[in-house]
Amino acid sequence: MGVIVDVFPARSDNYGYLVHDVATGRTASIDAPEAGPIRDALIARGWTLTDIFITHHHIDHVEAIPALKAEFGARVVGPRAEADKIADLDVLVGGGETIELGETTFAVYDTPGHTLGHIVFHDVVGGHLFSADALFSLGVGRMFEGTPGPMWAGVKALRELPDETLVYCGHEYTASNAKFALSVDPDNKALQQRAAEVTALREAGRPTIPFRLGEDKAANPFLRADDPILAAHYGLGGSDPAAVFAAIRKGKDTF
Ligand SMILES: [Zn+2]
Repeated sequence: MGVIVDVFPARSDNYGYLVHDVATGRTASIDAPEAGPIRDALIARGWTLTDIFITHHHIDHVEAIPALKAEFGARVVGPRAEADKIADLDVLVGGGETIELGETTFAVYDTPGHTLGHIVFHDVVGGHLFSADALFSLGVGRMFEGTPGPMWAGVKALRELPDETLVYCGHEYTASNAKFALSVDPDNKALQQRAAEVTALREAGRPTIPFRLGEDKAANPFLRADDPILAAHYGLGGSDPAAVFAAIRKGKDTF
């Protein structure tokens, strides 16, 4: 029967997501940015919160855990590698493991870089990927804790997922990501097309999320770090793709 995903804004520029397992009624909040919008979304749908899936320790993803746990008694699932940084975790998971929400199975991937223990959740059957700050539309999160090699390996593993995968990321950064992407990969037709679509969506006041992974594979420079075009842009032809990834990440930091 699969899941229904509810998308709503939270805080100043986070997205909140509720994932509802239709067969059992179990409902997870992906991260816990802000209790009010999550509660409102639950009421609007008539769902009860049973689970919280946490991706990483940043305050804008965990702040509402205590309030939601107190109100709903929800089970909190989170990254084993950040268990010392996140209070109230009930179940610890890491890359290569799975976690159930009712009858729906999520595969967990390690995506280090934005934070060292960052994980993402992939609904294998339904084709939904909750990528938080590891993978954005046309970008990736800032590399606060990790190093380029493992960060590149993490997003490369996500790139292996099917093109039809719908990606739900943590923030609405797509328009600024598009500007940067066009500056380093200006002749990319898929990127030009996505950038135009993003402009139209934002002008209409609509979210650019979720996005199709297949389109991002063709347009996101961070997913193209092993493409000779990106290497050439940075004068790194023949280099390790991780070095190209590092150059793109550094370029975006100062764009
Ligand atoms: Zn973050």
